[in-house]
Amino acid sequence: MHKLSVIVPCYNEQEVLMEFYGQVKDVLNSIDELDYELLFIDDGSKDETLNILRELAKEDKQVRYISFSRNFGKEAAMFAGLENASGDMAAVMDADLQHPPGTLIEMYKALNEEDFDMCATRRITRKGEPALRSFFARSFYKFINKMSDIEIVDGAQDFCMMKRPVIDSILLLKENNRFTKGIYGWIGFKKKWIEHENVERTLGETKWSFWGLMKYSLEGIVGFSTLPLMASSMFGIVFCFIAFLLIIFVCVKTIFFGEVVQGYPTLMCTISLIGGIILLSVGVLGQYIAKIYLEVKKRPIYLVREKK
Ligand code: UDP
Ligand code: MG
Repeated sequence: MHKLSVIVPCYNEQEVLMEFYGQVKDVLNSIDELDYELLFIDDGSKDETLNILRELAKEDKQVRYISFSRNFGKEAAMFAGLENASGDMAAVMDADLQHPPGTLIEMYKALNEEDFDMCATRRITRKGEPALRSFFARSFYKFINKMSDIEIVDGAQDFCMMKRPVIDSILLLKENNRFTKGIYGWIGFKKKWIEHENVERTLGETKWSFWGLMKYSLEGIVGFSTLPLMASSMFGIVFCFIAFLLIIFVCVKTIFFGEVVQGYPTLMCTISLIGGIILLSVGVLGQYIAKIYLEVKKRPIYLVREKK
């Protein structure tokens, strides 16, 4: 008999939690010969989420929860879930019902009847999402896939189910700056993708701000590609070459034609262009150094306040 740990990161999800619990229980109970646990991760919620979880855990032996000392972010919550999962399989899903619980059945089949180690979902539409957000998301995926050797699938969601070897592999990656989509790509294994339409959130509201998403995408780029560093060096080489040609040109011109001081505007343009590129490169370097700084401190990914 298999045991499935369903990991649910929750941050201020009081409106949806009971509804989610009901729906997921129904689905899990309908799968034959399956033992399961629901592992909720309260990511420092400021509403009634923790109280609801305490109640659920009291009434239902299959419910466990971990409550963080503050908000550590969804990535940390997923990591905590995987670290504490006792099943030989684990599923990760959002509490907001944007991940249709019925899909768990299909995923379970892919893992047990077909030869897959991991089954994840990707949305093929972004219906209901603000147009600007879709545009940035699409561009991000195009950009990062050009820059990184690891494939990061557009529309891939954090909704997935995996077997024990995959869980253990993910747990080996202890980096603080976690970018799960990249991690999933990096670990390899046989994956099945289930495609579906975007489901809009009906209860509660999204925890992502535009700025939050921007920062998250930068994390992805810095975490899974060193190409920006390379690009700075390339810029450097190209401009050195141009400068070299310019020097020869100026010398030759002065020697043979006796040029007087001229060309103030060109000088200004060149100085500011090169200055800009230097600053940009230093900035890129800074991004990586900042990440190194955060990683070498080896701080824990999350802190637990209460668990059951
Ligand atoms: N979440 C979390 N910590 C956070 C932000 C979000 O655990 O700091 C959880 C949230 O409760 C939900 C899931 O992550 O279960 C996805 O969040 P949300 O629905 O806000 O994101 P979206 O679906 O808009 O990408
Ligand atoms: Mg959501």
